[in-house]
Amino acid sequence: MNNTSDVIIIGGGIIGCATGYYLTKKGFKIHLLEKNYLTAGSTGRCIGGVRQQFSTETSIHVAMESMSKFVAMKDELGQDVEFHQGGYLFLAHDEEKKQTYLNLIEIQRKMGLDVQYIGVSEIERLVPGINTADLLGGAYCPSDAQANPFLIVDGYAKEIRKNGEIFTHKEVTQIRVENGKVTSVKTKDNDTFCSPIVVDAAGPFARNIAQMVNVDIPIYSERHEALITEQMERFFDMMIVDYRPDGCYFNQKWGKGSIIGCYTPIPNVPGLDLGASFEFAKEMGRRMARLIPRLSNVKIIRQWSGSYEMTPDGNPILDRSDIEGFWIVGGMCGHGFMLGPEIGYLAAECIAEGKPPYDIDEFSLRRDFAGKEVMR
Ligand SMILES: Cc1cc2nc3c(=O)[nH]c(=O)nc-3n(C[C@H](O)[C@H](O)[C@H](O)COP(=O)(O)OP(=O)(O)OC[C@H]3O[C@@H](n4cnc5c(N)ncnc54)[C@H](O)[C@@H]3O)c2cc1C
Repeated sequence: MNNTSDVIIIGGGIIGCATGYYLTKKGFKIHLLEKNYLTAGSTGRCIGGVRQQFSTETSIHVAMESMSKFVAMKDELGQDVEFHQGGYLFLAHDEEKKQTYLNLIEIQRKMGLDVQYIGVSEIERLVPGINTADLLGGAYCPSDAQANPFLIVDGYAKEIRKNGEIFTHKEVTQIRVENGKVTSVKTKDNDTFCSPIVVDAAGPFARNIAQMVNVDIPIYSERHEALITEQMERFFDMMIVDYRPDGCYFNQKWGKGSIIGCYTPIPNVPGLDLGASFEFAKEMGRRMARLIPRLSNVKIIRQWSGSYEMTPDGNPILDRSDIEGFWIVGGMCGHGFMLGPEIGYLAAECIAEGKPPYDIDEFSLRRDFAGKEVMR
């Protein structure tokens, strides 16, 4: 085995694979090392939502660029990725939420996003049978979407293999640094892979990887649970987001009609535990049925959990570290699937060209992390 490459990527989720894909397109030979199988981390556990409704110019721009890449993906990767633009609808159940959405819509529309505030009757038309108690309206962006993470990672991986290699069941245990520069990584089964560039795309484990080169990064995992129901006739098209403290978010899978969804637990559940709870299944069922009463009889067929990789301000980290050749691309804060294509592209540009094609200072490792992404 030739164990030398231009770039080693640690992590076979959407971020590692998208970064590898865009570097491959630039002619780089990639070695991607994944401790388990591709999509084993958060990527294979996400619910496939893709939206552009964020709160800062940078995050909106990145999300819109990412959407353009989803739109082109079927042709670019030469395979269907179950991409469907059915929209995202953020419900407002109080005046404060309504005002927040109206303020954000102003920024988003200035940037060219097709988002609007819609009233209750329009929501009833879009979501037949929705419970309108306390509902004031919602922020609706019809070009937001859903897609299949497994198919996308598979598509990226096929391209990476054309000029590089993907090693699954290869856990990185050490990163070697000489004179302040990365030189190689060692795996649990005692293989060594050499490269002057190592990308930490280990999702919830990004901090552990960075610790191997004595770099501390503020990425912390939180457990989020999800479920999917039996298939049913499709009757709404968008991801419905109810941000009330006892709310939830879910959509109906394109083509199949299953409902897939989550809620954000309060208080959050820190750590890497991926256990699934009966409490979640019961409570999620209740919350979905409160919003759309006809869902009260639908059967849950599977539940699972995964990690959100959180940073203190809700924005990703995409930056080089003080160790030459060691890059961090992580901390996606529950948005890694939707942002993944653009983040992978930006990471490849930074690594290959030395700078991003536009300002992404908000993703710097050295920022003060005091801000907050409102649409977390
Ligand atoms: C329930 C749930 C729902 C979600 N829904 C959405 C959604 O609708 N839309 C959205 O955009 N995002 C969603 N997310 C968030 C999204 O899944 C993540 O932000 C994204 O998948 C992160 O991708 P990643 O490549 O950084 O990490 P991961 O997919 O976790 O990939 C990291 C990989 O690194 C590997 N690894 C770790 N340590 C090592 C090591 N030492 N050596 C080798 N490999 C290693 C892991 O095995 C893993 O496969 C959801 C997440 C969850 C949990």
